[in-house]
Amino acid sequence: MGAGPAALCIASELIKQGLDVSALASHSPKEPWPNTYGIWAEELESLGMASLLGHRWNDTISYFGNGYGDDGSKPTIHNFDYGLFDQAAFQNALLDRCKDLNWAIETAENILFVDKITEVICSSGKKYRARIVIDASGHKSPFIRRPNHGDVAQQAAYGVVGRFTSPPVNENQFVLMDFRSNHLTEQEVKESPSFLYAMDFGEDLFFVEETSLACAPAVSWETLKSRLISRLASRGIEITEVSHEEYCLFPMNLPLPYRNQPLLAFGGSASMVHPASGYMVGALLRRAPDLAEKLSEFMSIEPALDSAKLAKKSWNVLWNAELVQRHRLYQFGLKRLMSFDEALLRSFFATFFRLPKEDWSRFLANTLPLPKLILVMLRLFTISPLKVKLGMIGIVIL
Ligand SMILES: Cc1cc2nc3c(=O)[nH]c(=O)nc-3n(C[C@H](O)[C@H](O)[C@H](O)COP(=O)(O)OP(=O)(O)OC[C@H]3O[C@@H](n4cnc5c(N)ncnc54)[C@H](O)[C@@H]3O)c2cc1C
Repeated sequence: MGAGPAALCIASELIKQGLDVSALASHSPKEPWPNTYGIWAEELESLGMASLLGHRWNDTISYFGNGYGDDGSKPTIHNFDYGLFDQAAFQNALLDRCKDLNWAIETAENILFVDKITEVICSSGKKYRARIVIDASGHKSPFIRRPNHGDVAQQAAYGVVGRFTSPPVNENQFVLMDFRSNHLTEQEVKESPSFLYAMDFGEDLFFVEETSLACAPAVSWETLKSRLISRLASRGIEITEVSHEEYCLFPMNLPLPYRNQPLLAFGGSASMVHPASGYMVGALLRRAPDLAEKLSEFMSIEPALDSAKLAKKSWNVLWNAELVQRHRLYQFGLKRLMSFDEALLRSFFATFFRLPKEDWSRFLANTLPLPKLILVMLRLFTISPLKVKLGMIGIVIL
């Protein structure tokens, strides 16, 4: 169910396993995806898919200081390539792998488990039956059950692809996080922190996006838009042409779904967004092959398994004990970060990017085995300034 990146990733891998797969989505799978997806280039290289990047930056920096003229103007240099997917190429590459897929353009309204199989009832009244259904309908899926841990933190961003009176970033440059905030009033600084994510597209075209990493309730798009404009204005920059606006909102710490439910999920519906970074596409590409292979094994070795049993076994592959533990650590980290004020957050990130590149990049990609992840978190704690250390253990000095 679904036609986003999660659905196409898992469907293509199931097809590769020789399974009989059908797809169901509210809109045509050829309809262009609405979001732009970014990723560290090495993550995509390790999957042999770096050719799918439409843009790639070698000059990648962040600002964790607090000014434009003093020390704050000194960037942290990441020395690590970042890229943006060529949206159409990425979507078409996955669709190519799903050539023989039979699509039903329908909206699922209800899901029942009858006679050992799953029945999807659509708003048209039509019913579709399958031995197992995978819900890849995104973060808002009403079909996947998960515990309620209170308010869910949302990543929110407002961005503009456009032209400007002068360049908002240097030529060929990518800015992951510009946390400089001395254009804000004291009151604004006290509110939830936000940063600029920005890049040069060439030919005088730039993408600038004011982003709130995680906040519950979410920072509003109006606030982010006005912060973006005042950030630019403080540097004497105005927007002269808007070719695209991005309104971004998605949950960062959606609780993990119950693993004993008869409906399997993949992607946003399966809480696969990285709780510390908000990235997910790398995880989809890395985790789909194993899930598809194991599901195919379960189906062939135990032909009598019904939907519920198949889903339960597959949930334990998708969210095995190691991944659950890692997710808990990331969730804990995010919770601590959300209690930090703006200055503490800047200090935290400045320290984080002082970790060895392999450590911070694999932390962000979620590719560190659990013992190594714990070591990296301990190392981060050790090298942090006292105020950040106290913040990490829950003592915030005002
Ligand atoms: C603006 C934005 C920018 C992002 N940028 C990045 C990024 O740079 N890098 C990154 O890794 N992640 C990013 N993310 C996070 C995450 O990767 C995306 O949210 C991603 O699109 C989620 O993929 P998905 O396939 O799970 O769900 P979606 O992309 O939301 O796709 C859901 C699909 O299910 C279909 N559907 C929904 N309900 C039903 C139904 N009832 N019946 C049938 N079909 C249904 C929809 O039509 C759609 O095809 C971003 C998210 C947003 C919102």
